[in-house]
Amino acid sequence: MARIRFRDPAGSVRQGQLDGDTILAASRRYDISRVEVLPPVEPSKIVCVGRNYAKHAEELNSDVPDRPLLFLKPPNTVASHGDEIPLPAGKDRVDHEAELAVVIGRQARNVDAADADKYIAGYTCFDDVSNRDDQNEEQNWVRGKAFDSSAPIGPVVASPESLPDDASIELRVNGETRQASTVAHMIFSVPELIEEITTYLTLEPGDVIATGTPEGVGPLSDGDHVGIEIEGVGTLEHSVIQD
Ligand code: MG
Repeated sequence: MARIRFRDPAGSVRQGQLDGDTILAASRRYDISRVEVLPPVEPSKIVCVGRNYAKHAEELNSDVPDRPLLFLKPPNTVASHGDEIPLPAGKDRVDHEAELAVVIGRQARNVDAADADKYIAGYTCFDDVSNRDDQNEEQNWVRGKAFDSSAPIGPVVASPESLPDDASIELRVNGETRQASTVAHMIFSVPELIEEITTYLTLEPGDVIATGTPEGVGPLSDGDHVGIEIEGVGTLEHSVIQD
């Protein structure tokens, strides 16, 4: 089962279930191509995890951290399936990072990993668009990671049982595969991440944890079309435009 948020042709914001290309909402059917897909959630914050795949840490010439490396993307970063993402002006390198995102279902603080499943509403696809020029120059990655529309997310929230333990995650740019791995390669598991994060802060319903990217990150340029497909979840698509 997969939940989707959209604006119908009359302008009303609705939630429905996506079945193939058909959305079922309030006893009506909509073809997905006839509606505006909205971000599936409106998070108060997105907690991102860095270097959570060993081969990605390796390609950055970085060590694997001994506890999850955390940073934030605020609500201004959220963008939809189908959006055109402006790349910050004057930067040499802005990269894609395909990630599995966890959507929180209820308020969570001091959660044990063993109980973490109770707090998961579902999973969605995420692109942690990253401005390397500034990320490499600054400590807290505000310019590098928190610029407007740098968090395309969606198109759906798939129920937790839809995600296989070894779900494939793949990112394509203009149809060419750049990243291909499985979520089984995460260093810190989703329950471990929820325990660690909620030791420090409260997660609210609709908040998102972006669980890190596998190897194969690479640069985006004007006009590129990005597709991120996660087995059991769906495919998030967006394009980029040079600002
Ligand atoms: Mg990332």
